[in-house]
Amino acid sequence: MKYLGAHVSAAGGPDQAVLRAVEIGADAFALFTKNQRQWNAKPLTDEAIEAFRTACDKHGFGPGQILPHDSYLINLGHPERAGLEKSRAAFLDEFQRCEQLGLTLLNFHPGSHLKKISEAECLTRIADSINQVLAETRGVTAVIENTAGQGTNLGWRFEHLAEIIDQVEDRSRVGVCIDTCHAFAAGYDLRTPEATTATLDEFDKVVGLAYLRGMHLNDAKSAFASRVDRHHSLGQGNIGLDAFTTLMRDPRIDEIPMVLETVEPAIWAEEIAWLRAQVTTT
Ligand SMILES: [Zn+2]
Ligand SMILES: [Zn+2]
Repeated sequence: MKYLGAHVSAAGGPDQAVLRAVEIGADAFALFTKNQRQWNAKPLTDEAIEAFRTACDKHGFGPGQILPHDSYLINLGHPERAGLEKSRAAFLDEFQRCEQLGLTLLNFHPGSHLKKISEAECLTRIADSINQVLAETRGVTAVIENTAGQGTNLGWRFEHLAEIIDQVEDRSRVGVCIDTCHAFAAGYDLRTPEATTATLDEFDKVVGLAYLRGMHLNDAKSAFASRVDRHHSLGQGNIGLDAFTTLMRDPRIDEIPMVLETVEPAIWAEEIAWLRAQVTTT
């Protein structure tokens, strides 16, 4: 079973995200549980939590179909103490919000060294940040997203992800989300069915497909290996449709939320329908 959806707006409350997912024919979705560009957020009210849980039940969304994304401000590998502490506190809050909503996955970008510490040191800080939050929470898996490698962002090489996971104490609660645009921009080819399968094989070899807990399905405005993060609608960018057909038919990817972060929400319903058709067409 391929769970397909998009990163929908949670404006008006997290329960509204569920309704927006239903409207586009999704059986998976991503959302922010707070404003992604601000550090502080009001705690979720009991009413908001209840409304979200009720909407999920009513429309048949289990926690394994929902991939919340944390705030863009958080840097779990921050080279400076103050920045690191602020990030870790915000990350804990994100985990706790997921716990309250009954969610079991939290997707985040690993972190950036800001040219002030080595890559290895930054990866260790990221793993320590994950270890701390896992020790303080229950039931939520830390889902590390591969990045395009813009600026000093780590996590663009599969080896970075493997190094982080290696240093996580509770491996049952750590996983990975592959973003196709980020992978392509980082130098993992997806332009043909063969290249797509080879990229997945490489991921399996370096990280392990057992850790794959979600995917972001995006075409890329950015060029191959450009280390630039610019998403595009499926089939309109430099990746092309073949990659997505191949992913839909790969039996190794199953029962995980696969979420569009493409640039035209008006065609998400169409994109989801097209993806679904790829699963069954032979
Ligand atoms: Zn992301
Ligand atoms: Zn993404």
